[in-house]
Amino acid sequence: AHSTSKEAVELDDTYGAHNYHPLPVVFAEAKGIYVWDPEGKKYMDFLSAYSAVNQGHCHPTIVKALCDQAQKLTLSSRAFYNDIYGEYAKYIHEYFGYDMVLPMNTGAEAVETAIKLARKWGYMKKGIKDNQAIVLSCENNFHGRTTGVISMSTDADSFAGFGPYLPLVGPRVGKTLIRYNNLQDLETVLNEVGENVAAFLVEPIQGEAGIMVPDEGYLKGAYELCKKHNVLFIADEIQTGLGRTGKMLCVDHDEVRADIVLLGKALSGGVYPVSAVLADRDIMLCIKPGEHGSTYGGNPLGCAVSIAALQVIKDEKLVENSEKLGKKFRQALTDLKSPLVETVRGRGLLNAVVIDESKSERSAWELCLLLKSRGLLAKPTHVNIIRFAPPLCITEEQLMEGVEIISSALKDI
Ligand code: PLP
Repeated sequence: AHSTSKEAVELDDTYGAHNYHPLPVVFAEAKGIYVWDPEGKKYMDFLSAYSAVNQGHCHPTIVKALCDQAQKLTLSSRAFYNDIYGEYAKYIHEYFGYDMVLPMNTGAEAVETAIKLARKWGYMKKGIKDNQAIVLSCENNFHGRTTGVISMSTDADSFAGFGPYLPLVGPRVGKTLIRYNNLQDLETVLNEVGENVAAFLVEPIQGEAGIMVPDEGYLKGAYELCKKHNVLFIADEIQTGLGRTGKMLCVDHDEVRADIVLLGKALSGGVYPVSAVLADRDIMLCIKPGEHGSTYGGNPLGCAVSIAALQVIKDEKLVENSEKLGKKFRQALTDLKSPLVETVRGRGLLNAVVIDESKSERSAWELCLLLKSRGLLAKPTHVNIIRFAPPLCITEEQLMEGVEIISSALKDI
């Protein structure tokens, strides 16, 4: 091992910026749903790196794709062609049914790309006057950390102190704040300023806000409102996509085909940063050569890794497993009838338990520390909401072992 747990935490704290507040556990090795710390203690991973390792840690097929490609060609830049990017773009087209892909690296970059693409489409296709295009989102959204993206945030931790902000983006552009899961708010704003609205950006389930699952029909209703006002519907599937919620895309639950889909995280199975923006030609071709890009976007390593990561989702039927085990997980947690558990909610293997902190001396954070000491890793997403999102390759037996640990911790806290 490189460092002991104690050393790793000290070095991180001394030389690394303090922009995270990690639970005190050090990853040294991982395989499938399991993680080992430098001292060899084994844990079940119930966070999956915020849903980036849906396929399981260090999946051999994905790692092999990385290693094989690394021996051959890692970067061409898009100044030139490379012999795998085109193949990747076609693979993505066939996989998701969108005409084209615009490849980026991180989730936030995919969101930035979508904002630019939507604005450009607004000017070129919808006829919005110069510099007037609006991109709407919802209260309590989380779409990333860049300056453009935090301009849409209603969470002071995300935006406060980082102004000035990008104008005409976010849930507060009109007079009305657009609450999540509220069609009336969206309709009111669209009626007010719809002719200048290029797009509505939404998480099909709000992840960071605490796994907020909207009512059935919300996404469909929002999509229809968008169509009525000639507004692009952008689904941020960076956390919810790729089987996490028991469908390939979370919007599939509502039978919505978004105009633009954003993917990241599990698009590479946790092996390499890869994100993507999917759209049909009439939208995607609004961005012309030289107007947008990234040195590493569409690089050969990322393409090889992503093809393998997507293939694993299909080959191992991870979407089906997520749907099936998600139901069992929520049922098992509900059946615990713990007085500390206020709510169990989620879809597929994206789940949250809301802890009633008035019923215990200890906080959700302390419950997570107890879970950790018993071999299960999870983290509060908000003060009293714990997210449980294991890799989708988890078996029923492993999942129930996890439920046992959660059950014992709830009793002892
Ligand atoms: N969008 C959603 C819905 C997310 O959950 C996240 C990350 O948590 C992002 C965007 C940002 O992705 P990244 O951290 O790769 O920039």
